[in-house]
Amino acid sequence: MSTPAATYDLGKLYGGLRLPAEKTVSTSLEIQRIPVPDQLVLPLAQHAGEPAHPVVGIGEYVLKGQLLAEPYGSLSAPVHASSSGKVVAIESWPVSRRFGENAPCIVIECDGDDTPVAPSKDMAPYNSLPPNALLKRILQGGIVGLGGAVFPTGQKLMQATTMPLEYLILNGVECEPYISCDDMLMREQAAEVLGGAQILMHALALDACYVVVESDKPDAIMAIGEALAELGDERIVLKQVPTIYPSGGEDQLVQLVTNREVPSGGLPTDVGCVVQNVGTSAAIYRWICEGEPLISRVTTVTGPGVRSPMNVMARIGTTIADVVSFAGGYNEEAEQLIIGGPMCGKSVTTDRVPLVKATNCVLVLTEKPVYGNEQPCIRCGECALVCPIQLLPQQLYWYACADNESKLRTYGLTDCIECGCCDLVCPSHIPLTSDFRNAKARFQELADEKARAERARLRFESRNERIANEQQQRERELDEQKAAAKKAGPSAIDEILNRRKNKQQNKDDE
Ligand code: SF4
Ligand code: SF4
Repeated sequence: MSTPAATYDLGKLYGGLRLPAEKTVSTSLEIQRIPVPDQLVLPLAQHAGEPAHPVVGIGEYVLKGQLLAEPYGSLSAPVHASSSGKVVAIESWPVSRRFGENAPCIVIECDGDDTPVAPSKDMAPYNSLPPNALLKRILQGGIVGLGGAVFPTGQKLMQATTMPLEYLILNGVECEPYISCDDMLMREQAAEVLGGAQILMHALALDACYVVVESDKPDAIMAIGEALAELGDERIVLKQVPTIYPSGGEDQLVQLVTNREVPSGGLPTDVGCVVQNVGTSAAIYRWICEGEPLISRVTTVTGPGVRSPMNVMARIGTTIADVVSFAGGYNEEAEQLIIGGPMCGKSVTTDRVPLVKATNCVLVLTEKPVYGNEQPCIRCGECALVCPIQLLPQQLYWYACADNESKLRTYGLTDCIECGCCDLVCPSHIPLTSDFRNAKARFQELADEKARAERARLRFESRNERIANEQQQRERELDEQKAAAKKAGPSAIDEILNRRKNKQQNKDDE
């Protein structure tokens, strides 16, 4: 099969690894739709930032697409019902989060009818809306970055508009082994992906977009190429990149595609780029053009421990048990369940956890997780050679063990993308990435604590200021009354004093 012409002029990618793909087994079937399950479990925090606040109560009947929880705080996203049914609980439930095991969830008992909310009357064509209105609308769709970061897309785009921008980059680089959901999405829904790109370009007032796909995905390249030819939008260009892990990281992709280096601690917008996952782009299209908020996604169910590996279109909130069961269930050798891929995923101990907006893969392995075979560092330097950020993982490891925050910052811990390359090559089997992840979590806790203390200080100061202002106001009023009374004569002074006395008496009685 010939593939459409695609550009190859690329910037430099540091470090990284060529890993076995392990994807063929899950891409032999078309994307399969999982039917409405009996129960949906929808975590209130499926995004970076504060959990959303429920707007429905227990016992309430909800429709597919109905708002269940509204965003809280500046970095949050709404949650919508993935099917119709009754809210039977709002309670703590096991989830697959990086730094916690349980989180508040809305549990829906589905009625199986899948009745949708009435279509919105607010369905004006996207290009008739001013960019600001379009951004606000994207915010309401509960859309978050589906590549794994789950940053609320609306906020990310709004922040981006404060910077001078040049390129939109759609990330179709799915370099982690086993995961093939973006590949399948591009093969089957290329028009939606490109439709989303046009919406994003309008919202960001951009005239240049790269759709980036790895060269080992000829079917996806073909599908995007054909959809592009049909669309005839010359602002969108398809770009192929080689398959090297982790070329799909945002900063690595910007470097590869534009040869611009995102500064340490910075964002792609610092070098004029906005990166969105291809799945996010398709989700934006479905919300803006078809009125469907983010209530389902494509997920890869795969690994040697699953009977029929495949890609599924599943409703957000479907339990992993239901997802695996749809893929034929576990085989006799299944030993370990991972949410995500083998490099960045998280091993979980129960399949009661729900599929969430971030779930790109459900991986079942036939080996148990290995703990405790760690040996001392031999200073071989292998970890530094593969680090795509050019960090010194062995140094970071020393400082993480010593909990030395200032050195960790100096050596760039916050730039670590937790790709796992250093772990994989370490001959001493040191779990470097999880040490870095834990150290970052401690940083975050400290930052949250500082932010809480700062908020408390501001509240205290503002209360004191308010009390002082009220006191001044009272004194001013008293002075004015005294001056007026002086003018009016002695009987008026008595009257004022009596009034004040009565007022104080009433207050005391209360
Ligand atoms: S790869 Fe492992 S043993 Fe080698 S320097 Fe890095 S941490 Fe030490
Ligand atoms: S996990 Fe962090 S330190 Fe290790 S290779 Fe990846 S970016 Fe570098």
